[in-house]
Amino acid sequence: MHEMSLCESILQTLEQQAPLQNYAKVKTVWLEIGALAGVEIEALKFSFDLVVKGSLADAAKLEIIEIPGEAWCMPCGRNVPVRQLYDECPLCGSHQIQVSGGDQMRIKELEVE
Ligand SMILES: [Zn+2]
Repeated sequence: MHEMSLCESILQTLEQQAPLQNYAKVKTVWLEIGALAGVEIEALKFSFDLVVKGSLADAAKLEIIEIPGEAWCMPCGRNVPVRQLYDECPLCGSHQIQVSGGDQMRIKELEVE
């Protein structure tokens, strides 16, 4: 379950940012997760609660913002929406597409005190 290590790296980022942004406690984390990032959201939420226990983000809320997947289709010459990695282009059915968005996870915003 790689969601656990994702949560550990989120916590690491929160701890690194605390002295820089001058906060002692994290109350809410808004996390952007791309549809193509390969992250199981339920597993992530579950892992997050375990990982932040006793840390500066203890009992912090995790808000997920889902970003749709997007890929560049060569034959169409434009960006098209995709639901999964290795999907074909929804317009022309081509497999000559390259993921151009929605394949990452990042912290968008924090509520701290
Ligand atoms: Zn296409």
